[in-house]
Amino acid sequence: MDIRTDHATGHWINGGIVPAGATETISVVNPANGEIIAELPAGTAADVDGAVAAARAAFPGWAATPPAERAAVVRRVADALERRAEEVAQLLTAEMGAPIALSRAAQATFPVVVARAFADLATGFAWSEEVGNSLVVREPIGVVGAITPWNFPLQQIMSKLAPALIAGDTVVLKPSEIAPLTARVLAETTVEAGLPPGVLNIVYGTGEVVGEAVSAHPDVDMISFTGSTRVGRRISAVAAGTVKRVALELGGKGAGVLLDDADLPAAVEAAVARAFANGGQVCGAFSRMLVPASRQDEIVELVVDAAARWTLGAPTNEATRVGPMASEAHRARVDGYIERGIAEGAKLVFGGPGRPRGFERGAYVRPTVFAAVDPNATIAQEEIFGPVLTIIPYADEDKAVEIANGTVYGLTGGVFGEPGHALAVARRLRAGQIDVNGAHWNPYAPFGGYRQSGNGREFGRAGLEEFLETKAIQR
Ligand code: NAD
Repeated sequence: MDIRTDHATGHWINGGIVPAGATETISVVNPANGEIIAELPAGTAADVDGAVAAARAAFPGWAATPPAERAAVVRRVADALERRAEEVAQLLTAEMGAPIALSRAAQATFPVVVARAFADLATGFAWSEEVGNSLVVREPIGVVGAITPWNFPLQQIMSKLAPALIAGDTVVLKPSEIAPLTARVLAETTVEAGLPPGVLNIVYGTGEVVGEAVSAHPDVDMISFTGSTRVGRRISAVAAGTVKRVALELGGKGAGVLLDDADLPAAVEAAVARAFANGGQVCGAFSRMLVPASRQDEIVELVVDAAARWTLGAPTNEATRVGPMASEAHRARVDGYIERGIAEGAKLVFGGPGRPRGFERGAYVRPTVFAAVDPNATIAQEEIFGPVLTIIPYADEDKAVEIANGTVYGLTGGVFGEPGHALAVARRLRAGQIDVNGAHWNPYAPFGGYRQSGNGREFGRAGLEEFLETKAIQR
């Protein structure tokens, strides 16, 4: 597949490729080997104006399309994406280094699952309801600006696009400049699915230029952002000038809490998987493991055994479980945190800093585990977004809850233990999604952050409601 000629031609506006207004480009780099795999237009504010105008023009027609028809289009998009799943998986692996097995099993397939889940929700949703003498109606909010990250590139886009389309909104998407290639495939599937021109528009470019132009735009009614807390703050500030709705899905520092009645080998296996999957580049990763202090040594042994099975390798190798970081800049950032952990006195029990032997080329980091970590250490407080697990001992359960809740984040967590006991502890954690004993993902359940992990919810009914306005008509 020649990725370059497939993707280098322009923005996607009004149902087709529109040449960019400026000639500057952004290189998309394969992090496994540093090779440039595509050039994309570096969008400008003028490109954003064109995309917003197309979205605004398409809005009345799409908003007037019955929800069942909108849902049918989303289903056809899902079907078309499913047919192109292998191409999507290959693109994702090339642009951001996810192991091909993960790209196939999750990166390329979750977007299909998410689209279908939202289409299901359109049926039976209370588009209008009687409340006393009021008719309360749910209406599309208008033009949505969607700004997305590189870690699950297509999944993050679909988590916004599907509910926005079902709601009757039109969309201007700015995908991550690090992993933008699957957005074009998605756009092509919308044509096949019969989405009217202008309902989805894509402007490529940097966050500072294109992201801020979308966020500030007076004709954009809502920003739905997934990314770092730092950028979420900036977007809130830029969007405040027009008082648009801003839904933020931000960073996390998830804690996997192992209770003293947990099945330790099973809990460790599941918690380590949640720390290292996608190279730890997951907002909901359990990057902290909280363990009873009296059991720390025995748990560390199990963790080291489990970590050794997270094979580092080329992302195109089917046996690889941890590929490179998504970019060289990100590799350096993660490596810096490993150095910082050592400098702050945490006990390195697996992995370590520096380029792994045999991986001098490419953005590779060793899966790394620290034990006996102070809950206030930098590596226990800041989101690293890499394969770095910090084991933190706790003296008693109240302390475990305090540590779990003791960061600025509140996105995810896990509790491992006797089911009733674990559920009771899960209720005490201040985070938007908690898994008990490694329970699996539910695409109908709301996902989102407390505190600085964000202010919105994606997926499920709450994820659809975010994209709607509410009107009460009294009679
Ligand atoms: P990022 O914040 O650097 O970038 C995300 C997007 O914002 C990109 O498209 C980027 O171009 C854009 N952007 C950057 N600066 C901008 C600005 N000033 N104005 C507008 N847009 C701007 O995040 P990333 O490095 O791509 O992704 C990693 C982060 O995303 C992590 O913090 C992770 O936790 C978070 N994340 C959160 C969730 C969630 O659901 N809560 C899911 C995935 C990732």
